Amino acid sequence: MPETSQNDALNTSKHEARKHNLASINQEFNDFLGLHSADQKLLKRYHEALARDSETFAKVFYDYLMASPVTARVLKRYQAQGGVIDHLVKKQTQHLFGLLSGSIDDASARCIAHIGEIHHRYGIEPVWIMGAYRLYIKHLQACVRNGMEIKDSDRASLEDTITKLLFRDMGLMLEAYWDSGLLALLEEKEKVSDLQEQITSLLANIPQLLWSMDISRNQPLYVSPSSRLICEMDIDMPIPCMGWTVPEDREKVELAWQNALQGQAVEVESRVNLPNGKQGWFRRHFYPYRNKAGEVVRIDGLMEDTTEAKATLESLNTLATTDSLTGLTNRTLFHDRLSQAIASVGRGNDQQIVVMLMDLDRFKEINDTLGHPAGDNVLIQVAHRLQAMLRQTDTLARLGGDEFGILLPHIGDGHRTAERLAKKFLQAFVSPFNYDDNELYLGASIGIAIYPQHGEDVATLMSRADVAMYDIKNKEARFKFYHAELNPDAQQRLQLSGDLRRALERNELVLHYQPKIDLRSNTVVGAEALLRWNHPKHGLIPPDQFISLAERTGLIRPITDWVIETAIDHCQAWRQAGHTLRVAVNVSVRSFQTTGLMDTIDRVLQGLDKRADLLEIEITENVLMSDITHITAMLKRISDMGCRIAIDDFGTGYSSLAYLKKLPLHTLKIDKSFVLDMASDENDAAIVHSTIDLAHNLGLSIVAEGIENRETLDLLTDLGCDGGQGYYFSKPQPAETFLNCVK
Ligand code: C2E
Ligand code: MG
Ligand code: MG
Repeated sequence: MPETSQNDALNTSKHEARKHNLASINQEFNDFLGLHSADQKLLKRYHEALARDSETFAKVFYDYLMASPVTARVLKRYQAQGGVIDHLVKKQTQHLFGLLSGSIDDASARCIAHIGEIHHRYGIEPVWIMGAYRLYIKHLQACVRNGMEIKDSDRASLEDTITKLLFRDMGLMLEAYWDSGLLALLEEKEKVSDLQEQITSLLANIPQLLWSMDISRNQPLYVSPSSRLICEMDIDMPIPCMGWTVPEDREKVELAWQNALQGQAVEVESRVNLPNGKQGWFRRHFYPYRNKAGEVVRIDGLMEDTTEAKATLESLNTLATTDSLTGLTNRTLFHDRLSQAIASVGRGNDQQIVVMLMDLDRFKEINDTLGHPAGDNVLIQVAHRLQAMLRQTDTLARLGGDEFGILLPHIGDGHRTAERLAKKFLQAFVSPFNYDDNELYLGASIGIAIYPQHGEDVATLMSRADVAMYDIKNKEARFKFYHAELNPDAQQRLQLSGDLRRALERNELVLHYQPKIDLRSNTVVGAEALLRWNHPKHGLIPPDQFISLAERTGLIRPITDWVIETAIDHCQAWRQAGHTLRVAVNVSVRSFQTTGLMDTIDRVLQGLDKRADLLEIEITENVLMSDITHITAMLKRISDMGCRIAIDDFGTGYSSLAYLKKLPLHTLKIDKSFVLDMASDENDAAIVHSTIDLAHNLGLSIVAEGIENRETLDLLTDLGCDGGQGYYFSKPQPAETFLNCVK
């Protein structure tokens, strides 16, 4: 039932009850006062005589009301609200004289009751009414005693009738007066109990437990009915659910309670064993209440379930410290762990900390060709492989993109451990990663910095491992320890990266050419294009110092395109000048991983009038390690186009003979590190010797780089080396002067 109609029904039934009640009261009054039809008859006879002087009485009544300050105040207030006192007095006297009609039925009783209610509502005191009745009775007595029309024999009974009527009137009016007061009181009570009900249901529905403890008597004053909403367990006092609290947490809760007893408002969080076997987190608040003397007499408490909030907080924490893709530690937490490790090792201790940064090779290509889901999947696989090789105390983190960090805290011999682990990690990349039906080959570069020798704080160690990682050249091993000679200035590198972006547009890149000599005929048969950066501030920067930067910033792709195009332009210019020379360009492993390389080669070949063999692509041995299937396919296409392919820096990598046999190669270039000292170092000479034999056995031509003197040249010629390059013949020359060394 809607609330208003419920109230209406309630009021109607109350009204009925009162009507019924009034009828029976009226009956009682008439019975007890002995009011009968004889009285009515008598009054009827003398009504006129008694009512005649009503005007005079109205005057008496008015004077009476105005005589006392309290009643006068009420009248004035009535007047101020727009009432007319004269009318009020007249109405009242009319009522009084109306009494003399002698009607004693229920309708008259209701009318009197109504007046009683109005008196109550306007705050007219019963005692003032009594005074008015006394005056009225006095007035009527005088009328009865002195009235000429009244028979002497009737005077006594008439006076009695009037007395009875006035008592009835007074009585019924007062009954209604008090009844009205009682009703108002009941209404107030009802309002209070409604309010109480609302509060009780509110407390029953809030998911917090509220309670109040009388400290002096150690008795609960109140426990909110919502305890079951909190947990299905017994609420023991004074600290609810103390018995269910996890034993290790009890002490802090107890301590908080003691502090509250000392007058401190406290809150404490603890774990609570729930009856369902699970564990939850609960926070209790204790609010001490002091009496006027300042003593803590009561503690009000609140207890709430914080399990969910705690879990949310924890998951936020996890989010902030975990890489969401791999579930590994993220960069923030990695830094934290490193800083903790540094703090716990301390100085003057034999222990070391190893920081390794690992960057994946060919990862971008996977993303570019197979899409991000493939890239994500591969990153997860990498994370699994690496994680399996670490101890529990080590940290593997994904620092972003395809970069991982490894932290080995508290190591005795950092160098040895790091080297062993780095090799193990690289081994993890030998077998392909699988995605759908693809076999994906990835490589990795690892830069290593060791605390304390390479740095004593997080930033230095991180940046030095970074420097070592980006210093890894394709021709060298896949991991590297930081050492002071490495281009250490990360800041400068950063600056250079911005500059390099603009270098292409500003034509700051230049190619120098080093002649390639046919050792049998001793003639220049070709030239290797070697890149330099003519930096406006730093002067001519050698490629070692910016190729790796170009690789990591993605600039290597446009740079490789530019190198190939420019080298072919020069090749054409020399041809036109009457010198048909093969031009060799170095293509780094990263450019090999981008799809545009083929298009560029294809395009430049158009300008070579079917002399594709004039273009030679030099790739370092390490390219072969990345993804043999992919590389073989690429090299095959290049070779099919008619270009020549040379393996550069041969002897520094780990290429297997089986691969060398399978690949469409033309030339091996033996690394200059073996050639430079071969005249004085027997080992180097032996390596060079066997490499020349190997190449010939595989049907490849062999070129030695780094020939600096005649002795070396003679040795190489004796060993049957096909070609050579080196300062002995010529240092790399600008394109403009290159032809001078050909003539
Ligand atoms: P690389 O391809 O092995 O080039 C030979 C390097 O040996 C050149 O260094 C050359 O100047 C140097 N060299 C030549 N003869 C001698 C000698 O008799 N003695 C000594 N000590 N060194 C000699 P450069 O020009 O500094 O280039 C270094 C490396 O940078 C190159 O090694 C190559 O891997 C890379 N590079 C050069 N140009 C490019 C390029 O256009 N693209 C890419 N991706 N890499 C390039
Ligand atoms: Mg080269
Ligand atoms: Mg080389």
